[in-house]
Amino acid sequence: AVAAEGGNASRVFRADQAGKLLERLEIAHALRDALSAGEFELHYQAKVDLATQTPIGAEALLRWHSPTLGRVSPAVFIPVAEETGLIIDIGAWVLRDACRRMKAWLDAGFPADFRVAVNVSVQQFRQPDFPEMVRAVLEETGLPASALVLEMTESALAGEDDAGMVATLAMLRMTGVSLSIDDFGTGYSSLSYLGRLPADELKIDQSFVRGLPDTAGSQTIVNAVIAMGRDLGMKLVAEGVETLAQGDYLGGQGCQVGQGWLFAKPLPADDFARWVLDARVPEAG
Ligand code: C2E
Ligand code: MG
Ligand code: MG
Ligand code: MG
Repeated sequence: AVAAEGGNASRVFRADQAGKLLERLEIAHALRDALSAGEFELHYQAKVDLATQTPIGAEALLRWHSPTLGRVSPAVFIPVAEETGLIIDIGAWVLRDACRRMKAWLDAGFPADFRVAVNVSVQQFRQPDFPEMVRAVLEETGLPASALVLEMTESALAGEDDAGMVATLAMLRMTGVSLSIDDFGTGYSSLSYLGRLPADELKIDQSFVRGLPDTAGSQTIVNAVIAMGRDLGMKLVAEGVETLAQGDYLGGQGCQVGQGWLFAKPLPADDFARWVLDARVPEAG
């Protein structure tokens, strides 16, 4: 019975793997023409100052509606776009669209210090002309470099060659854009490496925020990350803030910015703009 069970279990495992592979092939196939067919859209989620409760920026999050597969989560299709190399063109589209939108928002009366954050995959980052491409997009859209934040995951940064990575980051920063380390705490970077990265912002991964305010382990990690970010002169952003208690805890520990469903879900661009302008309307009286 044990042997039979083992056999079944391994067949189930293989079927599951095959299913995943088939799914990835289907996604890769459908992704090929998604850009030219206009199937992508950016949604925007607020980054909120925890002290004043006002929105100070937005993260652009990619949404894909495939006519054949339906809505597919970026957590599923971004890895496929990376494996197939499609992320280069998709990422360039994301950057241009977000910069164009942010410029229009500034022209429409968003606060002058509002910033848009764009996620960048390591494959984009590895392109030798990436800093030049960013500069060209800023020039083309008329967006000030200071209004753009590039988010890169800690795990992507940790996998790269130190010197080349630091040089590319420095070059990007010279153009005036800000750099943010995303999903921080999940990537196993050494502290000495982190100290050498010319980054402006640390985003505390939502897996640590989830346990707040009561789980001792989450508190220990979050407090340590906040202390470290502060020592390195970085702005601290917590992602996945869902409850008031989490927001209060983070603000109390010195984390400046929160992002999460407590404040706003990712919204289509027009809904987001309305939400920001409403949130910032001065009290009548
Ligand atoms: P991320 O950059 O860490 O983005 C944060 C994710 O957390 C988003 O998932 C967001 O919708 C979700 N989130 C926000 N607030 C909450 C909350 O309060 N609770 C919970 N449980 N989740 C929350 P999303 O939009 O599904 O994106 C997943 C990941 O896909 C992103 O993680 C990012 O790594 C990647 N991604 C999204 N758009 C792009 C893109 O344009 N380019 C690249 N390279 N990656 C992207
Ligand atoms: Mg991000
Ligand atoms: Mg993140
Ligand atoms: Mg994440």
